[in-house]
Amino acid sequence: MIEFRIVEIFESLQGEGYNTGMPAVFIRFAGCNLNCAWCDTNFRQFTRFTLDTLLAKVSEYNSKNIIITGGEPTMVKALPELLLSLKNAGYFIAIESNGLGKVDPLIDYIALSPKFCYQSHYQKIKQTTANEVRIVTEKHDDFLDFCQYIEKQINAKRYYLSPCEKNGEMNMLETIDLLGKINQYRIDNKWLLSLQTHKFANIE
Ligand code: SF4
Repeated sequence: MIEFRIVEIFESLQGEGYNTGMPAVFIRFAGCNLNCAWCDTNFRQFTRFTLDTLLAKVSEYNSKNIIITGGEPTMVKALPELLLSLKNAGYFIAIESNGLGKVDPLIDYIALSPKFCYQSHYQKIKQTTANEVRIVTEKHDDFLDFCQYIEKQINAKRYYLSPCEKNGEMNMLETIDLLGKINQYRIDNKWLLSLQTHKFANIE
């Protein structure tokens, strides 16, 4: 029987990136192939759901938008079965991934968040297209080189830098400064600022 390891399911507003403010049901899967020092997700504690109990839980909410997140959702073996069921039920499906796995073609909106602290893992990128790329800002001489490398490797409509939150503090000024530098001498201003607005609004 298909089983899913779920950290939490909840309805809220998308807090980051282009779809900020979009109402959605978030399905947060357990497990990740990275272990970022500033990770704010407990992806090791989970409840087991069958496909039917998961679909029943999702149907309790009003939104027809789903955000598949984690942890790292591309690691979920039975994800294609869940996606097919959700598509058949008429849901719009977005994913939040660290960009190391291949994203299922049934996904409608792909947000990739490659991690500078694991830059060596991104030498071979499987998912080379996305709707948006968001990179958490880190203080390092090579950080902008990594951003430019990712822009060449992943063809996305928009690229964002997000301030990193550590101990309740966000490196906002550093992020804005780096945005200025990465957009310098180009006219497309392709790199934008993404804030975790749900944290300012004190919602999940
Ligand atoms: S990739 Fe995301 S979920 Fe995984 S450890 Fe890093 S921040 Fe946490």
